[in-house]
Amino acid sequence: MSQDRLRPRIFSFLYLCTFLKMALLHNRINNEELKQQMLAETEPRTTLSFYKYFHIADPLQFRNDLYKKFSAIKVFGRIYIAAEGINGQMSVPTHHFETFKEALYGAAPELNGIRLNIAVDDNGKSFWVLRMKVRPKIVADGIDDPTFDPAKTGTYLKADAYNQLADKPDTIIVDMRNHYEYEVGHFEKAIEVPSDTFRDQLPMAVEMLAEHRDKNIIMYCTGGIRCEKASAYMLHNGFKNVFHVEGGIIEYTRRAKEQGLPVKFIGKNFVFDERLGERITEDVIAQCHICGKPCDTHTNCANQGCHLLFIQCSDCAQTYEGCCSKECRDIIHLPEEEQALIRAGKDKGRMIFNKSKSHPLRPRLKRQEETKPE
Ligand SMILES: [Zn+2]
Ligand SMILES: [Zn+2]
Repeated sequence: MSQDRLRPRIFSFLYLCTFLKMALLHNRINNEELKQQMLAETEPRTTLSFYKYFHIADPLQFRNDLYKKFSAIKVFGRIYIAAEGINGQMSVPTHHFETFKEALYGAAPELNGIRLNIAVDDNGKSFWVLRMKVRPKIVADGIDDPTFDPAKTGTYLKADAYNQLADKPDTIIVDMRNHYEYEVGHFEKAIEVPSDTFRDQLPMAVEMLAEHRDKNIIMYCTGGIRCEKASAYMLHNGFKNVFHVEGGIIEYTRRAKEQGLPVKFIGKNFVFDERLGERITEDVIAQCHICGKPCDTHTNCANQGCHLLFIQCSDCAQTYEGCCSKECRDIIHLPEEEQALIRAGKDKGRMIFNKSKSHPLRPRLKRQEETKPE
């Protein structure tokens, strides 16, 4: 056979190989079917999350090897892999838990023995497919400095060590979450870094703390993944004594309660599930964004075209029918077709309030930010 005739055959053979490989390494059944399969399962599952910053030389190869091991024991969930590390949330058939742990711990020396955050009040039904993606970063940070090593993190603080260090007068506590999270609950004396995105917060934190390079700086976030990277960034920028709360607020509270230590977190820990926050102490430190009454209940505006995340007391929820404003309340009383037109219309920029700076609540939110106590 001449070379010219052979070439297309080689290509189609290679294509077939790639396709078969893809089929083995990715899911090929449709989503709804997979969800039904999972719901029909009777074997108990354990829901957990983990992350680790460490250098992965070949993220795709690493991903493919781990995918084979996890899919063989029917692990479901979402895992991100990048050159800087791994971050996963998943559900594991409980009787395969040991096999899962061996596979994960054995995947790299850095992963051996890493902390697995086991969800306590979870039915194990949150995932029905295994998605493992290679990404540029496990937490987007906007940093393109090749000398920055997110694996060189600050010192971990467990609950007891946190309480001791937090009490010292030369300690600065920095909240690395978003404003709406800080607003309903935070560690005593914690300052926030007022930006909407983590990537802006990093340089901002360096600038804000520039005068305090020799102080003890404790960073924290919800589950530890953001503050851990932030601690590495502070060290990278010449800060000396940088600490971060191991496993974030979630792990801190669990340990403090378990060990009978004083809990230095006040208010609610904001989490993205239907509760929109888990109460840690009885203190209500936020106010209703409409009337200003003490309240820390987050809600999403009932107008689908708005969906603004905001704090609303039960009285205002009734008056505004779950909407953030009279305008949104008027909209939800329009026929659905008309609402759809508004959502799709040229007014989009103004109507999608959560993405707009011109929201009627914004001035109020801003005022609160300005008058908020230290
Ligand atoms: Zn109110
Ligand atoms: Zn609204």
